[in-house]
Amino acid sequence: MFIEPSLGGKNPKDKKGHIEVICGSMFSGKTEELIRRLNRAFIAKQKVEIFKPAIDTRYHEQNVVSHNDTAIRSTPVQFASDILLLAGDCDVVGIDEVQFFDHQVVHVANALAIAGKRVIMAGLDMDFEGKPFGPMPQLLSIAEYVTKVHAICMKCGELASYSFRLSEDREKVMLGEKNTYEARCRKCFYEDKK
Ligand SMILES: [Zn+2]
Repeated sequence: MFIEPSLGGKNPKDKKGHIEVICGSMFSGKTEELIRRLNRAFIAKQKVEIFKPAIDTRYHEQNVVSHNDTAIRSTPVQFASDILLLAGDCDVVGIDEVQFFDHQVVHVANALAIAGKRVIMAGLDMDFEGKPFGPMPQLLSIAEYVTKVHAICMKCGELASYSFRLSEDREKVMLGEKNTYEARCRKCFYEDKK
């Protein structure tokens, strides 16, 4: 279980920003964990803004939606730099599907944290070929807190950290549907990888 760091209380002078990254494979509960952290900030009446890349239109346009339907409102943005303009005076910035942003998001996350905000990002750490996904390696490096969550291998029941693509399509961005991907452990991922 992730234990939140001290958040500096209500005095703006005491507010120290930092970066949290939640990563893992598909079906590992990344978005649920993001929502859990953001909901607790909402309940404490902190100002929370949530963003996601405009590319991810799988479900409802305005919501960060996890696979089990717990949803909170979010703003789709085209570029990571839009987040800097839109974050305003909020206390907490949530970013879902952060792996789809370009490397500019590393600079954006750092700038937000330096400005005293709590930045919480969730994203796939590996693509369907088992390679680090986009800006994730850099984000994991600059984060103060990293949480890797696991799914369960749909083939053998071990802990899973890979997203196995069932179809032959080699295109990098193929958004998740339950029938296109399976969570796999390392062994089962490489056994069947084409
Ligand atoms: Zn397995």
